[in-house]
Amino acid sequence: MYTQQLVFIAAVLTTPLPSSANCMYGTSLFPRAEGAAVEVSNFGYVGLQGPLNWAALAAENSACATSKAQSPINIDSTIQLAAEAPKVVIPDVEAAEFENLGTTVEVIVNGTTTLGGEDFSLKQFHFHTPSEHRVAEEYFPLEIHMVHEAADGSGAMAVIALTFQLSEDGKTTTELLTAVTENLAKIAAPGTLTETGPLKFAEVINHVQTTPLFQYTGSLTTPPCAEGLTFLVTKKPLPLSVKTYNEIKAVVKFNSRYTQNSLGQGNLISVGATSLASAGDAPAGNGTVAPGNVTGIAKPKPSGGAATATGAKATATSKSATATGDAEVKVEGEHHCILGSCREVAKAKRFRLRK
Ligand SMILES: [Zn+2]
Repeated sequence: MYTQQLVFIAAVLTTPLPSSANCMYGTSLFPRAEGAAVEVSNFGYVGLQGPLNWAALAAENSACATSKAQSPINIDSTIQLAAEAPKVVIPDVEAAEFENLGTTVEVIVNGTTTLGGEDFSLKQFHFHTPSEHRVAEEYFPLEIHMVHEAADGSGAMAVIALTFQLSEDGKTTTELLTAVTENLAKIAAPGTLTETGPLKFAEVINHVQTTPLFQYTGSLTTPPCAEGLTFLVTKKPLPLSVKTYNEIKAVVKFNSRYTQNSLGQGNLISVGATSLASAGDAPAGNGTVAPGNVTGIAKPKPSGGAATATGAKATATSKSATATGDAEVKVEGEHHCILGSCREVAKAKRFRLRK
């Protein structure tokens, strides 16, 4: 199935799609659409629009298939707690703009979070169901990303990720969500917008400032999967009522990227592509993928030189599929510029994949 997926990638490459309305939508890197229109995302979570194919949707998405510092992750014992609590200021509002971007629903709010002596401006918060991050492999029904951009214009980004757990009585909830979802049914269709009810942030601010937060540097969890984001993830989930959860889930639907490899380990798509290339050249029964954080498990093809052992370098930017079912995956050397820095993310590699 996976090989076929890579072959399908070849078919869609002739019509690359720009990524839009991603997790950083509304920041200076990904500015909000002009005027009243709500921009709807071109990526998704099902089939060829889904995470396995994001790198093929647009050239700028290459990090989705090559980067070794991708989010979300399973938060294990290697991830440290934040050394100090952030200072969060978010003024209460009578109403806030509330948009359905197709891949999430997003509330536009302003605030300031001070982290490590640096001020970050809150731009928006949005929803993921189920949670994207896992803690000791446990997932949660809901995760909210509060997206911040450095106030000094450096382009640095920080995301406070709030995890939510269904309350045992089914009714106890976080009141901010009750106000947010008051008009959620009005934006059930992608591209629509409305306003929330009055929003009071004291409960959430208190939780962020007084309970432990995991901190690590990862990436956008949506295309273009750019690296360099600071994540602060709540260790203790906030309460969520069954009613509110079901209301959110009905509109947001499934929008959680699969858990990425441990930080610094090979990108799972690259590792998988290399493993498949190797399996295609190996005798039957000798092509299984080893568990764990494999980075270079493929063996070079003895002759012909098609496959290499540098599993972390490939992207899924396939170029063509042949009538025999073979596909050539060509990875262009390219520079990836984000958050003010550019670096080469992939050397040219060529793999032969068996259908
Ligand atoms: Zn997000």
